Amino acid sequence: MRTARDIAAAVNAGTSARIEVEAALARAKADPNNAIIRIHAARALAQADAVDARIKAGEQLPLAGVPVAIKDNLCLTGVETTCCSKILKGFIAPYTGTAVARLEAAGAVIIATTNQDEFAMGSSNETSAFGPVKNPVDPTRIPGGSSGGSAASVAAGIVPLALGSDTGGSIRQPASLCGVVGMKPTYGAVSRYGLIAFGSSLDQIGPFAANAADAALALKLMAGHDALDSTSVAHDASAWDASQTDVLKGLKVGWCPAHVAGLAPGVKARLDAAKAALVKAGATLVEISLPHEQYAVAVYYVLATGEASSNLSRFDGIRYGHRTTDAANLGEVYAKSRVEGFGAEVQRRIMLGTYVLSTGYYDAYYKKAQQVRAKICQDYADAFAACDVILGPASPTTAFKVGEKTADPLQMYLSDIFTIATNLAGVPGLSVPFGADEQGLPVGMQLQGPMWSDGKLLAIAGALEKLR
Ligand code: GLN
Repeated sequence: MRTARDIAAAVNAGTSARIEVEAALARAKADPNNAIIRIHAARALAQADAVDARIKAGEQLPLAGVPVAIKDNLCLTGVETTCCSKILKGFIAPYTGTAVARLEAAGAVIIATTNQDEFAMGSSNETSAFGPVKNPVDPTRIPGGSSGGSAASVAAGIVPLALGSDTGGSIRQPASLCGVVGMKPTYGAVSRYGLIAFGSSLDQIGPFAANAADAALALKLMAGHDALDSTSVAHDASAWDASQTDVLKGLKVGWCPAHVAGLAPGVKARLDAAKAALVKAGATLVEISLPHEQYAVAVYYVLATGEASSNLSRFDGIRYGHRTTDAANLGEVYAKSRVEGFGAEVQRRIMLGTYVLSTGYYDAYYKKAQQVRAKICQDYADAFAACDVILGPASPTTAFKVGEKTADPLQMYLSDIFTIATNLAGVPGLSVPFGADEQGLPVGMQLQGPMWSDGKLLAIAGALEKLR
């Protein structure tokens, strides 16, 4: 697969966006992994022709003719958008979200929608109403989740760029398990307008790409303030880029002993190799600790479910999507539509979230979790006083087998043990491939940095790609 930058350079030089898009549509149609759930052929070809017309008229576009796939929780005008849930079946988005619109304005063409865990709740893509996604590296295994379809479509070479969302690891964990780059930007870097909300204080949209430079290009085009999302920030991202040289000399790389205990041996071996390569390239290792990180998963399953129970209350059978045909009164319309429309994991989260927010329990759960969240933020601030970035594994294991963890939600939740604290603190994090375990399954290294160090993380990822 050519890089997004190569495709854009060719199209800017006068080859054709239409040809790029036609080829990508054909690859999407042949997708053997259930990564692609909807193909937008007519819309995409019209967009490709519009890009070609702009180039003919003398414009140069940073993503000219680059085919892109987007997760099913990102709104695109006129396109069915369902979060891979039965409850949103038939919902046609009336507008395009800001991040997607900015990519389109830069010449990208959205060719397809990708599979995901229902409402982005999951770590294996097995809660989707469209069925599981197969990992392109080994189809008996899951691709990770919740943005499993986006990770798999880049890994399989269908598109050079895809978008996902990350609330607790949903970009970084599947990127790691599929062997591609995936990044959760600083909270507020990318507008959430047009992203169907899960946990609003945690959600960020981010890119998947085959390499750090393409991810950097997509991210800087999406980033920036948006009047339609009051949590988006006017931060200059124009210098974010992965080609910066010499980024490793003198870099203080933090590592946390707690991230090593209990790691799968194949993941640990790659982490050790990454550390050694960084030191050889001039970085120094600094041992750090994140003393409250051990509570991150517990805190997340209070805060994220609380926010989800509120966000998902709008899906009531009246305003969007599925409505039951079997109700005697309004109360039954609400209850039965939701029972019929939401899958088991989403119902579990809504019940948990409603409980932690209820009178009498709010202080014991939600408020306590907010207090621990503040401590986790302070841990990061303390760590970044001693180091520039934190290196660790993105996932405790490589890709597991389809069905292996579906019976045990707690085991599934532990897949995100290394990624969740990032969202709680709002700091940026990415996963970059760094080789494979003894079975040939991809291993991703996670890099986390202080707020707005996104450009630096991408540059370090670019350097790590060369050391791999
Ligand atoms: N796997 C985590 C969950 O199930 C994170 C999901 C996400 O980041 N959207 O909630």
